[in-house]
Amino acid sequence: MIIVKTLREIELMKEAGKVSSRALKLAGESIEPGITTAEIDEIVRKYIESHGAKPSFLGYGGFPASACVSVNNVVIHGIPSKKCVVKDGDIVSIDVGAYLGGFHADNAWTFPCGTISKEAQMLLDATKESLYEGIKAAKIGARVGDIGNAVQQYVESRGYSVVRDFVGHGVGAQLHEEPSVPNYGTHGRGVRLCKGMTIAIEPMINLGGYEVQVLDDDWTTVTKDGKLSAHFEHSIAITEDGPLILTDYGPESNK
Ligand code: MG
Repeated sequence: MIIVKTLREIELMKEAGKVSSRALKLAGESIEPGITTAEIDEIVRKYIESHGAKPSFLGYGGFPASACVSVNNVVIHGIPSKKCVVKDGDIVSIDVGAYLGGFHADNAWTFPCGTISKEAQMLLDATKESLYEGIKAAKIGARVGDIGNAVQQYVESRGYSVVRDFVGHGVGAQLHEEPSVPNYGTHGRGVRLCKGMTIAIEPMINLGGYEVQVLDDDWTTVTKDGKLSAHFEHSIAITEDGPLILTDYGPESNK
């Protein structure tokens, strides 16, 4: 069942979005050669808790941390670790959710550490742009397939591939709600978008093939070919004025 939100509920989700996107921004600013992914997680947890919110991911399905931190060929769900030291030239995807006022907000960003290759920078740029292409398609009356199609067209025309095994989702009182929001799809297909729907759009884009593999810890998801992967995500609301980004205080915001 798709749960549509009232304007009041969307306002509450904006508050959760403020906390989760500011935590993400802060985490990104901490990235430098030598930091561990456990230290990044700690920054996220402290920020969220000190703002009266709860980290959405901590304990979710047994996940042991407040942020997913996924380096290089890790696509998503990287478990923060004291043993995972970030190096110059790495790309670091951080996924953060905050629960405040009865609602979750979920967002992710992939950051460069120090100087990264041109190839890596182009992947980050294309993945980020594809997120905004997907958001642009999220209008009242459009379909979920229009969002996926916009993301897919943007990245595949640049030679990248779209992860199939993991998708975006509705977000609200639950971290994951209906509908599923794939990053691939066909125009005019899928659930019709209506006023008050709140969804997380989150392209996971690979430099090589789209196939991924979940490691023995049951979380860490890597590219099968070992090549780089990037991940950007916003939680948005479908409104009469167009898509409204709820997590709009993130890495590139000056709010
Ligand atoms: Mg998500």
